[in-house]
Amino acid sequence: MSGTVYLVGSGPGDPELLTVKAQRLLEEADVVLHDKLPGPELLGSIPADKREDVGKRAGGEWTPQEYTNRRLVELAEAGHTVVRLKGGDPFVFGRGGEEAEHLAEHGIDFEYVPGVTSAIAGPGVAGIPVTHRDHTSSVSFVTGHEDPTKDESAIDWAALADTGGTIVVLMGVGKLPMYTAELLSAGMDPETPVALVERATWPDQRIGLGTLETIVEVRDDAGIEPPAITVIGGVAATRSRVRAFLKNGPDPGDDAE
Ligand code: SAH
Repeated sequence: MSGTVYLVGSGPGDPELLTVKAQRLLEEADVVLHDKLPGPELLGSIPADKREDVGKRAGGEWTPQEYTNRRLVELAEAGHTVVRLKGGDPFVFGRGGEEAEHLAEHGIDFEYVPGVTSAIAGPGVAGIPVTHRDHTSSVSFVTGHEDPTKDESAIDWAALADTGGTIVVLMGVGKLPMYTAELLSAGMDPETPVALVERATWPDQRIGLGTLETIVEVRDDAGIEPPAITVIGGVAATRSRVRAFLKNGPDPGDDAE
């Protein structure tokens, strides 16, 4: 009989943000397929002999998704209990949907185990609520890194600007100049607060604060790199009002501004 595949969210990186269920499944699994996003602390806590890295390889090449799909089926068909561990939540820009479909096509039982997504917790640990009665009652989650084979941007940045809601960009460090420019040309206020949260909940978390006009410079001066979340909207200014008392992460005096 085939084993079950658990599509498990690890949360943003702090091992204490794993769910109780994820923790149990990690202990019970025969094999854990993961990439780098769960972070060094969490990955270090899983015995090396049951871990398989399907993220970026030494040469900087990504493991093809087809390989991961095939490997999941192969391990399950061999009767193993498999955890597919993904950063944050498996169904938020994590290709969990593709894997679920592939497993179903091959008749493999699977279970989705939600995780704390960096899209909400990333801003949160910086003291930034993605919604706030005084600023916004809607939030959009978008990818900054689109499929390079697509001709046109699938994201209508002007329409997002029009919503007046919070915009949370994942995979959005590299393309920051592109989409801040698009939002500005769509008429968004250049003074709109923007925050970058790098390696949220990891021991070396860093935060950059600016506006739609200044944030690219903040990124460049501080050398902010992926993984990071970009938060755009009035809520991003909340950090400066609460940080003196906020106990998440390093000293707010280290903010890049
Ligand atoms: N499934 C994940 C997202 C995967 S896409 C989730 O729900 O969180 C990868 C992107 O997630 C990264 O480029 C970055 O934008 C974001 N991300 C994931 N973990 C992060 C972290 N600890 N800190 C900041 N951003 C993170």
